[in-house]
This record gives sequence, C-alpha cells and structure tokens, in this order.
Amino acid sequence: MTNRELINMAIEVRKNAISPTKYYVGAALLTESGKVYTGCNLGTEDGIFNICAERVAICKMLSEGEKKFTKIAVVGGPEDKLIYTTPCGVCRQLIMTFGTDIEVVMGYTNENGEIDEKIMKINELLPGGFSM
Ligand code: ZN
Repeated sequence: MTNRELINMAIEVRKNAISPTKYYVGAALLTESGKVYTGCNLGTEDGIFNICAERVAICKMLSEGEKKFTKIAVVGGPEDKLIYTTPCGVCRQLIMTFGTDIEVVMGYTNENGEIDEKIMKINELLPGGFSM
C-alpha cells in the first residue's frame, strides 16, 4: 500500500463528508495487518454533533477488532480543492495513543495542480504530547 494509494482512498471517502463549515476531510489508515479503514468528517447543521475524519476511521478500526495502525492519510479543503490539512489537536493526541512514530501523510494539491504529499511522524505534529 503506497502513500498515494492511501491518499486516493482518503480522497474517495471525502466525497461522503457532511460538514456545516463546508470544509470536507477524508482519512484512510493502514493497520499493522494491512487493512485500510477510511473516514470522513461528519456533522449536523446545528453544530451539536461533529466528528473528524481521522476519528471516524479510528473508531471503524477499533469496532472491527483491530488495535494498531502504522500510518494515516489525511486530505481536506473546500468542496472543489484539496489544501494542506493537518489533523486537529484532539486527533493528534488520539493518534499518538496508538504510537509515537505513526506516520501522518497529508495529501494536497500543489501549485501545479498535482496531488502532493507531506509526511510527518505524529510526535513531530504533537511535540510533548501525552503518551504512556
Ligand atoms: Zn480532528
């Protein structure tokens, strides 16, 4: 599973996002066993319920009995384009719970209109984050 394949799966699931803020995010994580779980951000118009794409993917993984993942791809932006998007603080802390060296692959459209990627370890995205 290449990073680009993971990004493509995140782009695909992003089409199902429901976002009152009109910022649409998709995520795809790769488990140690080689399975992929995807998620998109979901919310209600009244703002009472909101959940990030990363957390949806992680919940799907956990509900299927898997416990570990090695990388997660994240893509986001307004409806018609992908801009460089990093996980929010809550998701960074949650991702770190599964390992300090998990790779976060951010996919975005570069100035040439091509999909590009930036890879960071979760401990780079959340320096000093809580971990046991
Ligand atoms: Zn988040």
